Amino acid sequence: MELKIYHMYPDLLNLYGDLGNVTCLRQRCQWRGIDVEVVGFSMNHEVPLDEGDLFFIGGGSDRGQNIVYSHLLKYTRMMGDLIEDGAPVLAICGGYQLLGEKYIDADGNDVPGLGIFDYHTRSEEGRLIGNIIIENSLGLNPETLVGFENHGGRTYHDHQALGKVKVGYGNNGQDSEEGMVYQNCIGTYLHGPLLPKNPHLADYLILKALERKYGLKELSSLDDQPEYAAHEKVLKLYSP
Ligand code: GLN
Repeated sequence: MELKIYHMYPDLLNLYGDLGNVTCLRQRCQWRGIDVEVVGFSMNHEVPLDEGDLFFIGGGSDRGQNIVYSHLLKYTRMMGDLIEDGAPVLAICGGYQLLGEKYIDADGNDVPGLGIFDYHTRSEEGRLIGNIIIENSLGLNPETLVGFENHGGRTYHDHQALGKVKVGYGNNGQDSEEGMVYQNCIGTYLHGPLLPKNPHLADYLILKALERKYGLKELSSLDDQPEYAAHEKVLKLYSP
């Protein structure tokens, strides 16, 4: 079996260890004997999007986001179709905001998003920074997901959230919701990187990709002791 992981704009969207998510996905596949090709998709390296099996979009500065928004706009339809077809996508922070209708930056300028989802994000006074713990809505065991958030943008929507905030801020610091899930597309504010400390979420994405491509129903298990030790440590340090 073979997976093509598309790392979207690795040169422009890569904050707070986001690259580690791609390393984690690749490594967890390779440990299981699944071949992986990581394809960097960016301004000067446009490759056919529909050849990807799993998509990762990291977070970025407002400047990086702005550049990406205008470039990726022409792929809106294709990205939307892939999501509708069940392609797994993990979009973090600026990447998550990018999938919505618009991002209103700190100067009040509208930066149009892809508009695949009907939410928007507004930059408001005071950044939402710190370690974050949520309880996931995907039915994953353990229930917790841990990460680090740092965003000025507040996102508001009625879609399924990725989880309930137990510690930290999440989408907007108000409604205790974090992230968004639609089909196999996950938007979230959790950096960190997210996946190495949450191997259950990494495997969720890998299995969705393999299910879509090969009809696979189950992944072989790995020894995740170090990963869950890191996960537990975060819970211990930051739980109330
Ligand atoms: N610029 C966005 C914000 O501050 C995204 C930041 C990020 O990706 N961490 O809301």
